[in-house]
Amino acid sequence: MARYDFTTHRLFVEAPLQTGARINLPQPAAHYLRNVLRLSDGAELLVFNGRDGEWRAALAPAAKKQTALDVRAQVRPQEAPHDLHYLFAPLKHARLDYMVQKAVEMGAGVLQPVLTQRTQGERLNIERMRANVVEAAEQCGILAVPDVVAPVKLAALLAAWPAERMLVFCDEGADVQDPVAALSACPRPTALSVLIGPEGGFDDTERAALLLLPQVARISLGPRILRADTAAVAALTLVQAVWGDWRDGA
Ligand code: SAH
Repeated sequence: MARYDFTTHRLFVEAPLQTGARINLPQPAAHYLRNVLRLSDGAELLVFNGRDGEWRAALAPAAKKQTALDVRAQVRPQEAPHDLHYLFAPLKHARLDYMVQKAVEMGAGVLQPVLTQRTQGERLNIERMRANVVEAAEQCGILAVPDVVAPVKLAALLAAWPAERMLVFCDEGADVQDPVAALSACPRPTALSVLIGPEGGFDDTERAALLLLPQVARISLGPRILRADTAAVAALTLVQAVWGDWRDGA
């Protein structure tokens, strides 16, 4: 069970956090607190910026249409991001929003879009992905806000692959075999990436190139073809349960 306060609203802010700081909020956050949550002066909430841990703050009295927060005290120290990279072929709009949010909730530390032969929707809106990351971070209580990095072509990604990094390659073409057993048979990796392909799947040359990596676990996610956003949750569940923070709070 999480040992943090999940009943108080949590808000991501850009500003540095320290005792006594007053933070002027940008209009969307001000609107959210005043008009959506209907918080009044003095209402308490939790704030984090991805660098300074989590802090208790209170809504300052309204002044000149500016909404501000008074930062009171730190309640949790900053935590380090997880070294779990989620690699995915971008999807279109709503499914991509969902997939990004779920990857964050499932503990991904870096979100890496990968362009494959059959990737669709290549005009990626990184800002929109970042907004989804922040929303998920606010919701699920993490303090290290995952990075969304620039898209990279699969071939370039593989060419620069670090030898010590393990890849869990979710292949819709793999024979159905117990994925828990397959992962458990590998030593627990120190650096880990999980790859989910596009709705069109991988082609055979991509498959062959992926299997040449020094540390790769090719797994099946069962006898049904999952949508990529479902596959994301399924795959991250498996790695968190076998090697990750579902197992020992690591
Ligand atoms: N169009 C493809 C399916 C692609 S599904 C086909 O019909 O074969 C999108 C991605 O989700 C896949 O590339 C894979 O990474 C993952 N995925 C979906 N179902 C899977 C399964 N049963 N096993 C392993 N990976 C799966």
